[in-house]
Amino acid sequence: MEDSTLIAALLEPLTYPLDPSKRIFWGCCFSSLLLASFAVAYRTGRLDIRGQAAALFNPKYWFNSSTATDISLLITNTSIRLLILVPIIGSHLWFTLYVGRFWQSTLGDAPDLSMPFWLIATSYTLCFFVIEDLSRFLLHRMMHRSRFLWHFHQVHHRATVLTPLTLFRVHPAEQLLYFIRQTCVFGLVSGTFIWIFGRHLSTWDILGVDALGFLFNAAGANLRHSHVWLSFGYLEKWLISPAQHQLHHSKHHGHKNYGVILAIWDRLSGTNILADKYCQLDFGLEESSRSNYQRATNFKELISNYRYNLKRKLNLSVPSE
Ligand SMILES: [Zn+2]
Ligand SMILES: [Zn+2]
Repeated sequence: MEDSTLIAALLEPLTYPLDPSKRIFWGCCFSSLLLASFAVAYRTGRLDIRGQAAALFNPKYWFNSSTATDISLLITNTSIRLLILVPIIGSHLWFTLYVGRFWQSTLGDAPDLSMPFWLIATSYTLCFFVIEDLSRFLLHRMMHRSRFLWHFHQVHHRATVLTPLTLFRVHPAEQLLYFIRQTCVFGLVSGTFIWIFGRHLSTWDILGVDALGFLFNAAGANLRHSHVWLSFGYLEKWLISPAQHQLHHSKHHGHKNYGVILAIWDRLSGTNILADKYCQLDFGLEESSRSNYQRATNFKELISNYRYNLKRKLNLSVPSE
């Protein structure tokens, strides 16, 4: 391996603040700061800019062993992704082309759907958004419910100080699963759309910025890993707020709210808790749960749990517990 490749991989995280597809893009950090200021002023009933600045620049918040682990995992994982995963598994594009060719060889030409470009682009964005969000929820929930996967995911939950960099605090094995999930979802959705609308949709359109993902990042997603309590109130029935993800990291709230953007997956599986009342949280893991996981389960049990909650939501008859 050339030294320049290694150095480029090590320096890659420094480019994230300039990359609009990253959550810590400077524009998204700025909008998160504004939202944080508003949320704190609303909760305390006064706008104390000096106090807020002092909290933001408090050295104890940025220079501590928890944040040091976040940063070292960020550098390690970026290097593994760029030096090992991308060269071996490749970019998302090969799987996209494979899926498109698979549909073509199996089903032949797609039906000719004459739709205006804006409708194709909107359908693609919505499909990708929903399937991406659902797959992230399922993988995250599995991480909590499997003894084997919890072993890796607990690294993220050991953070005792939450900063936007805690997003990158994941075990390399979790990063590998995330990478495979991302490749599958992107390939399945994009490959199917290219098969159906290939003549109207270029690869460039498919590779465009994930518009709804960018909106989510711009709407204060950085506050999910922070100590600023931002609740969405009634909207939390539909969208996961930063405060709800903080409850997920709390030592004392049973690791609910597995979702990333949509709250419906948690509601269907009965793992949704609202952040309607402000509470001071203790982040990290209880000593007893460090080697523990929520509850061992198998796939059959997971499916029956979903069916039970779905029936309950639809007011169908369910056996009493
Ligand atoms: Zn988790
Ligand atoms: Zn988290």
